[in-house]
Amino acid sequence: MGDIIQAICPCGLQSEAIFQGIGFNYYETGYAVEPAYCDTCGIVTGKDISKSFSKCPECRRKMKLYKDELEATKEEQHLIPPYINYQEAKEFWHCPRCKQETLRFESMGCWD
Ligand SMILES: [Zn+2]
Ligand SMILES: [Zn+2]
Repeated sequence: MGDIIQAICPCGLQSEAIFQGIGFNYYETGYAVEPAYCDTCGIVTGKDISKSFSKCPECRRKMKLYKDELEATKEEQHLIPPYINYQEAKEFWHCPRCKQETLRFESMGCWD
């Protein structure tokens, strides 16, 4: 279950649809998708956070997770499953393409 979100920036950056949320077998695999970005390639994509690190599909470097920009309290960090509403947590986010804080997440619907 989760939200389908898309990262959009006025500079023209537009991510693919990101199926944010946890998989039905989350408790076995820890599989959960959160948006991540690569500053080198200027792309935003959904990444499985159960992996120790996520490689960029283009340059193979480590991608940064947007949720790492949020200051979570210790208690919140231990909440399982993790759930972040990116539209509400922050209005504007870092854009890896124009390097400005002008990127927004838009909801495209829900999946289950
Ligand atoms: Zn890259
Ligand atoms: Zn931008």
